[in-house]
Amino acid sequence: MSKLTSLPEFQYISTRGSAPALNFEETILTGLASDGGLYLPQHWPRWEEEEFTKLCGRPYEEIVLKVLMPFVGSAFSEEELNRLITGAYSTFRHPARCPLIQLAPNLHLLELFHGPTLAFKDFALQLVGRMFATILARQSRRVTIIGATSGDTGSAAIEAFRGLDSADIFIFFPKGRVSDIQRRQMTTPTEPNVHAIAVEGDFDDCQSRVKDLFNDEDFRQRFQLGAVNSINWARIAVQVAYFVAAALTLGAPQRKISFVVPTGNFGDIFAGYVAKRMGLAIDRLVVATNQNDILHRSLLSGECRAGEEVLTSISPSMDIQVSSNFERALFEASGQDSEQVLTLMNELRFQGGFSVPAKTLENLRQHYVSGSSTEGETRHCIRQVWQQTGQLVCPHTAVGIKVAKTFADVSGPIIALATAHPAKFPEAVKQTTGIDPPLPEDIEERLSHSERMTTVGNDLSQIKQLIGERVTSL
Ligand SMILES: *Cc1c(COP(=O)(O)O)cnc(C)c1O
Repeated sequence: MSKLTSLPEFQYISTRGSAPALNFEETILTGLASDGGLYLPQHWPRWEEEEFTKLCGRPYEEIVLKVLMPFVGSAFSEEELNRLITGAYSTFRHPARCPLIQLAPNLHLLELFHGPTLAFKDFALQLVGRMFATILARQSRRVTIIGATSGDTGSAAIEAFRGLDSADIFIFFPKGRVSDIQRRQMTTPTEPNVHAIAVEGDFDDCQSRVKDLFNDEDFRQRFQLGAVNSINWARIAVQVAYFVAAALTLGAPQRKISFVVPTGNFGDIFAGYVAKRMGLAIDRLVVATNQNDILHRSLLSGECRAGEEVLTSISPSMDIQVSSNFERALFEASGQDSEQVLTLMNELRFQGGFSVPAKTLENLRQHYVSGSSTEGETRHCIRQVWQQTGQLVCPHTAVGIKVAKTFADVSGPIIALATAHPAKFPEAVKQTTGIDPPLPEDIEERLSHSERMTTVGNDLSQIKQLIGERVTSL
């Protein structure tokens, strides 16, 4: 018997307290918990310093394997997981997978955009897609993957699921609010299991409709809905690995490292929190927002209240007001108090916002600090980085770099996450630097193919009807 099967199974619990506890395999397929909450491990694996040290200088794939082993429990054998990880990252264009480059004496950039869709979401989705396919084949099951996207999740998810026999994938994006390249990445795949859906609304509308679909138990069962949004725990778990890899490269565990994370749905920054809970030597975790700065304001004031509407910015993947994964952060900061989380989420839903209880706020502030960048500051930052270092950065990355510069008091190394390739957002880069950032050739070619998409209103019954028409074999 392998060592794994003799370990107690790792359990996941819902932030809202009334959904059943699940193992990893069930959690990955379930996505949103049946009580509307998000799944989290019941406890955190904790590593000794030595376990981190042993991974210094090792291939990225090996770090991913070590990070994921405790979380997956018996869902995959070590061999099987290793095979999935190797396949997932073989699609990347850089042997380091996430190279670090230095921008200033104490500021480093972690390039997370060498995957097939040029944004960090490939790190999680290339692997999670393979995990899904493996589990579904084992169970002879078929699912309908649905997801809302502000641009990058959708393209990364489609790239990970296109052509699978075991899944249809529906991606809802706000019509006219994603970049030309993001849209083409979603609309040019020709596989019949891919459904790119433009919604007449903003990202929060798309996300709300997806949540509505999940909350309809009948519909959810009938179509065997699955989610690959960052509400899916597996995505967060997979992202923990690059925090570990980058910190080790710059001297952890001997030195404490700070991370600045351009944030929209709070998924990526939460992966940093998980790394910290596992024992990684992290000093500060900095939440960086664009002008949609509700997270920054919430951490400052304790008042979590959405503004009138989402403002359109040059960093569209962060044009979000209601961050799903903030619920996970609240759950943790409240001491896993699901009643408190439920109360706050109901206030958010029915009264448009909530005040974070004092003790919970204090805990949040122990783990996260924050900053924001206006459109002007972001543009200035893109130009300045180009002039000073010759590096082109995407607008999301620039938000992080701008915020990183306001944390000059941090003594250890600061790593800003470069979340997308500059060529994915060429307008902003060209306007500020005069340079038209080139796309990798294979991508350029693919994106010239003809587009295929369907437009729907921001209306649940219309959306349900569309899914019903398109999903044929279940
Ligand atoms: C998704 C995305 C973000 C925000 O990440 P979250 O996990 O939603 O916080 C930032 N930058 C880019 C380029 C993205 O695609």
